[in-house]
Amino acid sequence: MMKRSKQKTYNILQNCAFMISRAWRDCRSVLAIVLGLIFCGVGTSLLELFVVPAVLEAVERGVSPMELAALIGWFTLGMVAVRALRSYLDENAIFGRIRVRSGLALDIHLAFCRTSYPHTEDPDYLKRTEKAQKCVDGNSEAGEAVWETMTELLTNLISFMIYLLLLAQVGPWVAALCIILSAASYFAGEHIRAWRYRHREEEAELVHKADYLCYRTQDMKLAKDIRIFGIGPWLTELYGKYVRLMQDFYVKAYRHDLWADLLDAALTLLRSGAAYGLLIAMALRGELTAARFVLYFTAVSGFAQWVTGIFAGLSKLHQQSLDLSILREFMEAPEPFRFEDGKPLAVKPDYLYTLELRDVSFRYPGADHDALSHVSLTIRPGEKLAVVGKNGAGKTTLIKLLCGLYDPTEGQVLLDGEDIRQFDRRDYYKHFAAVFQQFSILAGTLAENVAQTNQENVDLSRVWDCLERAGMADKVRDLPQKENTHLGREVYLDGIDLSGGQIQRLMLARALYKDAPVVVLDEPTAALDPIAESDLYQKYSSLTGNRTSVYISHRLASTRFCDRVLLVENGGIAEEGTHEELLQAGGRYAYLFDIQSKYYKEGAMEDE
Ligand code: ADP
Repeated sequence: MMKRSKQKTYNILQNCAFMISRAWRDCRSVLAIVLGLIFCGVGTSLLELFVVPAVLEAVERGVSPMELAALIGWFTLGMVAVRALRSYLDENAIFGRIRVRSGLALDIHLAFCRTSYPHTEDPDYLKRTEKAQKCVDGNSEAGEAVWETMTELLTNLISFMIYLLLLAQVGPWVAALCIILSAASYFAGEHIRAWRYRHREEEAELVHKADYLCYRTQDMKLAKDIRIFGIGPWLTELYGKYVRLMQDFYVKAYRHDLWADLLDAALTLLRSGAAYGLLIAMALRGELTAARFVLYFTAVSGFAQWVTGIFAGLSKLHQQSLDLSILREFMEAPEPFRFEDGKPLAVKPDYLYTLELRDVSFRYPGADHDALSHVSLTIRPGEKLAVVGKNGAGKTTLIKLLCGLYDPTEGQVLLDGEDIRQFDRRDYYKHFAAVFQQFSILAGTLAENVAQTNQENVDLSRVWDCLERAGMADKVRDLPQKENTHLGREVYLDGIDLSGGQIQRLMLARALYKDAPVVVLDEPTAALDPIAESDLYQKYSSLTGNRTSVYISHRLASTRFCDRVLLVENGGIAEEGTHEELLQAGGRYAYLFDIQSKYYKEGAMEDE
């Protein structure tokens, strides 16, 4: 069902260029601050390197106390100025960086909201979304931390070049010794530390499972079940198990880190000992002045720091670049549906469309049989179609295919004879107003939930008209804040919780507000009481007007007001006709209707 083309992966330079272009677009001060910090970093190290040798040399030259004081004064002033600038830039760096990261987070959010529907059920895509989001989760993630890494890496590289020129004056072997031993220390340490990286999947799985248990236990929706079924101790035992496994994992990881630190200390001792020994020998032989000796001595320890810094920076940048690649690949993921690249399709006012499923089969990814098999169906303009059948028969799948939420595995869905795959799918969705079984209430005001937009853009009189038609207006009028009442308590403390039936009416009002040419109602009365249900049936025609409508129900009595009834069974259309025709035919529909009405009558008699 889904196109899976191999995606491009990006290298470090491409990802740095990507971040620079984002900063150029969203906040240029980020780039200026990076350059400023590099200047300060290199400046500080050079001033620190040269201050003592310069003073010593001045003393050796026998300069006057005033000149010496002036020299020390200049160095001090330079250091204070560079440090002050660095603190200022450090303090201010975060604002722009957050802005660039937030821009990326918004793009990820938008990409997820706009991606093809099948992606939202695809575990692989969901995993990639999670990884992309993690990349912009906080200051220490790649989406922001990359600026610090670039700053450090460039500072280290420039300082390395300067120190290399200096040490080359002593002899190429000093520079070579420092480079080789620093690199050896870094790579050996990294190899040991990489244990955790090699076991990252194991770590991620443990964290994921523990987080899941923790989150599910605190999920308000589960609170009732946890208490009624007494599953608290079971969940706690499971959570405890994963916490213990995580502890064992981290003890192992830290043991590896400790070995890496010990090795690093040993190689540093070797490197510094050898280089300092050689410098001391040269000084004793009179080959170096005191000032030069101090300069090179300081340069040797600094040089190792730059080499290690470069490798560490490259490794960090490599990791961050991988994370940025994940983010970019997520944002550029190939879509199974057409959107902007599809044919535009405007909704024609007051026009009645013909919808058709032509020999459609559909299989869910990973399933071993088709949910729908070779279904052909034409919905005439303005027709009121009822779809009935047992749970799992394939009714919802059929509706989702009609609405363009899935593409058929075989066959075609057509709008006025044209395959919907060629259209901009978002344009196609504009033709449908639907009430699905899973409610999607957002923590906003009641009016916002009906109009599906923010308060400023809500057409209030239309909201009230739709609430009225959906039978929800009286309830809303009784609320102190009326249509401005917040829904749900997850975000707003003053929010209210609606009953299942009230939410269903609200969803109906939302569908009416959209005023689309095709109305789709998937079990819209499942949460309503019998009186409310019968009230809705009576109003059905006025609710849908002359629009084409598809109505799913497992209550066969509710199909009388429809022009045609489809009985779906085992992924196919078993019977079709009007309610009366199907009863007269005496087939499966008549049989099921008989059982249902008997049950209701008996139920009613028992109630009496
Ligand atoms: P109905 O609406 O008639 O109750 P559905 O269309 O929801 O039936 O389901 C038809 C079949 O497809 C069932 O066997 C169901 O288990 C399966 N199915 C539904 N949704 C999914 C899904 N997202 N992934 C895999 N199988 C699914």
